[in-house]
Amino acid sequence: MQNAAIITVGNELLNGYAVDTNSSWLAGKLLLASIPVVYSCSVSDDIEEIKEAIQYASGKADIILITGGLGPTDDDLTRNGLAKFLGVELEYHDEIYDKIKKLFKARKYSIPEKNKVQAYLPAGTSEIENTLGTAPGILYENDKKIIAAMPGVPSEMQKMFEESILPKLFSRRRHGDDFFIIRKIKCIGAGESTIAEMLGDLMARDRNPQINCTVSQGIITLHIIARAEDKKSAEKMAAEDVEKLSGILGKLVYGFDEQSLAEVVGQKLSEQKKTLATAESCTGGLIAKMITDIPGSSSYFTGGWVTYNNEAKISQLGVEKGLIEKFGAVSSEVSAAMAAGARQRSGADFAIAVTGIAGPAGGTEQKPVGLVFISIAGPRTLDTEQFLFGPRNRDFIRLRTCQNALNLLRLKLGS
Ligand code: ATP
Ligand code: MG
Repeated sequence: MQNAAIITVGNELLNGYAVDTNSSWLAGKLLLASIPVVYSCSVSDDIEEIKEAIQYASGKADIILITGGLGPTDDDLTRNGLAKFLGVELEYHDEIYDKIKKLFKARKYSIPEKNKVQAYLPAGTSEIENTLGTAPGILYENDKKIIAAMPGVPSEMQKMFEESILPKLFSRRRHGDDFFIIRKIKCIGAGESTIAEMLGDLMARDRNPQINCTVSQGIITLHIIARAEDKKSAEKMAAEDVEKLSGILGKLVYGFDEQSLAEVVGQKLSEQKKTLATAESCTGGLIAKMITDIPGSSSYFTGGWVTYNNEAKISQLGVEKGLIEKFGAVSSEVSAAMAAGARQRSGADFAIAVTGIAGPAGGTEQKPVGLVFISIAGPRTLDTEQFLFGPRNRDFIRLRTCQNALNLLRLKLGS
């Protein structure tokens, strides 16, 4: 079956100035296309290094994808490295230069002399059109191998890959190649090891479908990778595992594939024709931001308050002054009063309220940094939960607060 190697080019990737996101993006797309990546590397802007990387990759893979180093400046040397690997000279193409000139003209810029270099391609290769920028991609193809060099700019690379390269890779599929289907299960509310324990042997390395677990920003994603001779069988195997794993993990599963927590909560509110308001202290509006990141959220989100100091909690949400004096602004009592106030003043069916100590200052022994209260006021209930997300940094505490607030509402809304 076909396999691939990825080479990213650029000094900035090696000196820590830029993070190589192109490799992971491409690897994900390739896996979805049932083409495993067997090798990847980053190299500097150096002809010899680029040539050697292509040479090594071509010993390992049928498909070699290169990103970066196609621009007009002296440090953009991918075309030279590729020419050296192929043992050919660079050839000038008038029609490519015309296209680049037109692009500059359309943007009302005069074309710098330097851009002429982008009209050179290694002999025997062809241009891959770049509909977003000036740097054309370069394609080399024979019966056994395909080498595609794409721009380093992620948006240009992604468009070029999806429009021009991926269809080509599909058309080169060989009879008998396996199909891969990937499904994702998204969980919140337990750690990676707890989930691994619950799944037991299902996560065995030699199992098909293979189940991989990744954690990012408090969300645990289980990747189900099913492999079969035909697409239908792979889909069926993946679907059966989605069901099996969801059954085992129960309420920890909040969604599937690319769904976010805010999206799932929004869907539930829409389906149940319910509305939501927010009253935030330590998260400064981040919950409202997450909710309104979802298009169409105006149909269920009425609005939110950022009541950061005591006065705002009192005047805008109707929290009693005495309550704050007695229990403190970060307390289960004040959290509940904020939620009740927000629900009542907005007229929404549900209100989320959060109050906590995001740090780094402001913590005490009784109320340490990371202490957070989250309340959900509903038509019949007013629940408050206490969390301790510390001692961690401010961003961490705020993000976990938002996720747990959305998750509590998700659980309240039921399945
Ligand atoms: P151009 O110079 O015409 O923009 P190029 O092909 O020469 O295109 P580079 O100069 O290598 O591309 O990179 C352009 C931009 O893309 C840089 O800002 C760089 O940080 C970013 N970039 C390059 N490679 C990667 C990568 N692997 N992952 C993420 N970003 C990248
Ligand atoms: Mg460049």
